[in-house]
Amino acid sequence: MNDLFTISETINFTLTDILLEASYLIASVLFIIGLKMLSNPQSARKGNIWAAIGMVLAIITTILFHRQNGQPIGNIGYILTAIAIGTIIGWSIAIKVKMTAMPQLVSLFNGMGGASAALISLMEFPHISPELIAAEGMMNGHVLAILLGLVIGSVSFAGSMIALGKLDGRIGDIRSPFMRYINISLLLFLLVFIVYIMNLGQVIPAEISYLIYILLAVSMVYGIAFVMPIGGADMPVVISLLNSFTGVAAAMGGFLYSNQAMLTGGILVGSAGTILTILMCKAMNRSLLNVIIGAFGGGGTAMEHEEGNIREITLSDAAVLLNYSQKVVIVPGYGLAVAQAQHICHDLDKMLESKGVEVKYAIHPVAGRMPGHMNVLLAEADVPYEKLIESEDINPELPNTDVVVVIGANDVVNPAAQDDPASPIYGMPIINARAAKNIIVMKRGMGKGYAAIENYLFFDPKTRMLFGNAKDTLQALVAEIKEL
Ligand code: NDP
Repeated sequence: MNDLFTISETINFTLTDILLEASYLIASVLFIIGLKMLSNPQSARKGNIWAAIGMVLAIITTILFHRQNGQPIGNIGYILTAIAIGTIIGWSIAIKVKMTAMPQLVSLFNGMGGASAALISLMEFPHISPELIAAEGMMNGHVLAILLGLVIGSVSFAGSMIALGKLDGRIGDIRSPFMRYINISLLLFLLVFIVYIMNLGQVIPAEISYLIYILLAVSMVYGIAFVMPIGGADMPVVISLLNSFTGVAAAMGGFLYSNQAMLTGGILVGSAGTILTILMCKAMNRSLLNVIIGAFGGGGTAMEHEEGNIREITLSDAAVLLNYSQKVVIVPGYGLAVAQAQHICHDLDKMLESKGVEVKYAIHPVAGRMPGHMNVLLAEADVPYEKLIESEDINPELPNTDVVVVIGANDVVNPAAQDDPASPIYGMPIINARAAKNIIVMKRGMGKGYAAIENYLFFDPKTRMLFGNAKDTLQALVAEIKEL
């Protein structure tokens, strides 16, 4: 009888174990399918749902089947309450958030991921078994995973909170030539401190848990200090880097708990974020090392420029100019998203094409306020994907373009990036709108862009301003062209 009980217990344990591992495998596959689907605007929404299903599956099966020394998970009441509170808060914020505030939301959620990974490490460090330490000394993968999870998670949390404040306009840039030396020193301190803790030998972790709080504090200071000087047009690079940090920190937790779903999810976020960061660095002509030590842009005083006069264009003149052009390139920017003018913008391009004008869109990698913002916006309005041309491919075509229509874009067409070494955006590749034969700029007034610097494209003799909210202006313009 006793034997039977043991056998059934063993089988029972094995079955739950197999079910759990199988569900993690399915969840991991769903994450990968979801990520793959995110690479195309048409399938992105479904991809998000597939990945979310994978996450829900992993959470449910963990609660049902996870066993610690043969015992099911305890504190179920607390866990379900925490999940319910998190779900309600997350859901209500996501439902209400405006499309233009999406980057702030992404930063907030990313920061929460980093904080969770850091909390795991804070909790687990004092619980490292003294037997393990006695057997192996402190040099083992688990301790390293805990320390790295703490450092990377808290850097990501603190950095994301600063990024959130900056995107919201509540925190300004703090730049100083000393900043990079402070950041390098903080980074070195973190590395040396990790090595020091790893080499403490056979001490009981619970007795030295205060060390991990020092590590936490310094990591948070570094997180704040490395994002603080980043300004100009460089925020997207930092946001994607922080995103990859959270992924790596979560992967550390997965390694610690031998949890395949957490490990795969973390690695996917970490690697996708890293690839995006590298692409962003390339697009912005910045080096990854400069991102990490928070040294970006010119940071000096912008070059004095002869402003000249602003020239406006009337709606009817703009309609005639566009109607009788052979080739028009539209440069969408953040203002298009603010005005929600993507549908009427597509109407304009369809109308011009029906009149024999060739129309293309020039897409800058950091236009808008999140990576791929313009692609998502225009896909929502059913603009064919093949019409969206990246900056380096469209630039050679611009000298042969009759009219470039800049709609709510500013920094991404600012010639200071090419001409002014003191400008914070100097070195950033731009859409070279000034090379076109005519430039029409649609914006509400002379407001600056995200980098908060003057744009003397607006004073170029070839440029004419069409002031107003982008959606209203486009509606009126389409009506005018229809009449021709
Ligand atoms: P900008 O922020 O440079 O400029 C947007 C312009 O749109 C403003 O000058 C504003 O001028 C105009 N505008 C605002 N609302 C309206 C409206 N309703 N109708 C018409 N025009 C409007 O945008 P860009 O897209 O050119 O550049 C993006 C910037 O944001 C870059 O500096 C980038 O680095 C940064 N950024 C990008 C992120 C990303 O991931 N893509 C993330 C974080 C920052 P006015 O007030 O006169 O109308």
